Amino acid sequence: MQWQELAEQALGGKLISREDASAVLSVPEEELLDLVSACYRVRRHYHGKRVKLNMLINAKSGLCPEDCGYCSQSVLAQSGVDRYPLQSKETLLEGARQAMAVKAHTYCIVISGRRPSSRELEHVASAVREIRATYPLRICCCMGLLNEDEARILQEAGAERINHNLNTSEEHYGEICTTHTYKDRVDTLGAVKKAGMSPCSGGILGMGETDDQIIDLALSLRALDVDSIPLNFLIPIAGTPLGGVETLTPQKCLAILCLFRLVNPSKEIRIAGGREYHLRSLQPLGLYVADSIFIGDYLTTRGEVPAADLQMLEDAGFVAATAPREPTRKLQPDYAPGLAPAFSGSAEVAAVAETIVGGNQ
Ligand code: SF4
Repeated sequence: MQWQELAEQALGGKLISREDASAVLSVPEEELLDLVSACYRVRRHYHGKRVKLNMLINAKSGLCPEDCGYCSQSVLAQSGVDRYPLQSKETLLEGARQAMAVKAHTYCIVISGRRPSSRELEHVASAVREIRATYPLRICCCMGLLNEDEARILQEAGAERINHNLNTSEEHYGEICTTHTYKDRVDTLGAVKKAGMSPCSGGILGMGETDDQIIDLALSLRALDVDSIPLNFLIPIAGTPLGGVETLTPQKCLAILCLFRLVNPSKEIRIAGGREYHLRSLQPLGLYVADSIFIGDYLTTRGEVPAADLQMLEDAGFVAATAPREPTRKLQPDYAPGLAPAFSGSAEVAAVAETIVGGNQ
């Protein structure tokens, strides 16, 4: 396979064939670096050597009535996960302060549940207003199912992005969740767009899906024209229905990242949950394909120490893209590539290590 030809096709705006997409997912081990190198051309064209850092807060944990098979926050899971109601505004602001300290571009406020109550929506909107007035952070909210009016409340408060993952292909969806549908998720993304917000949607890989279903997911996200694609690799948490499922290798994870880059060449491709668990020592190679990562902890699992991630970026010559320094209430979407200034340097990495309290220690 001529991997550089696939890169040229992607750069020329041509969608790769299904056959080529299959070849990407079953790349021979001895050709994997050639594939990564081809994808790096595409990544560099659209995103240079910038890496967007996203920090999340689990603002409401557990007690969810839905039955997503991968999720430890479902009431059906016997996972012992923390359970707490929506955090106070002070806690959400403190999370924003910590996001600033690790040079995050985007602060992601995530709540468990099928959909937010109007009280929860107003509470998060109020916190978003205050964060936007205080810190130069972009804000993404992940609130479950939303209609257009609900999305607009967050948009008017200053949130610019809503995350709602498709998680897997339409064909596979019924295997991982029965309490809501794939269409429910697509409808929420439609509402987000109608409200004038930036849609963020990705998947969880390693849930027993076939390669064809992975390709379907990549193509669906392209068709939906989402701006940002977080790719999680399943951490099989004991006590969840997918607790024993281990199908991924570090090489397969890299091949999956390559597929999503080639199918969605200009989009923000984020290595999300499971990065440390599945990519392991190949994590730096992932940066040559993806242009975005989470920094700090995930919703219910620990992430890498932030200073170590910043050191990884610096060692590989990447720079963290940061949101504009001045806080503003005026919406200025800067998710387009190339607009954000960057920082790098060991002194800042060391400063981050000193600034963070709690979390990963
Ligand atoms: S809706 Fe969200 S919080 Fe609830 S079980 Fe599914 S993934 Fe977990």
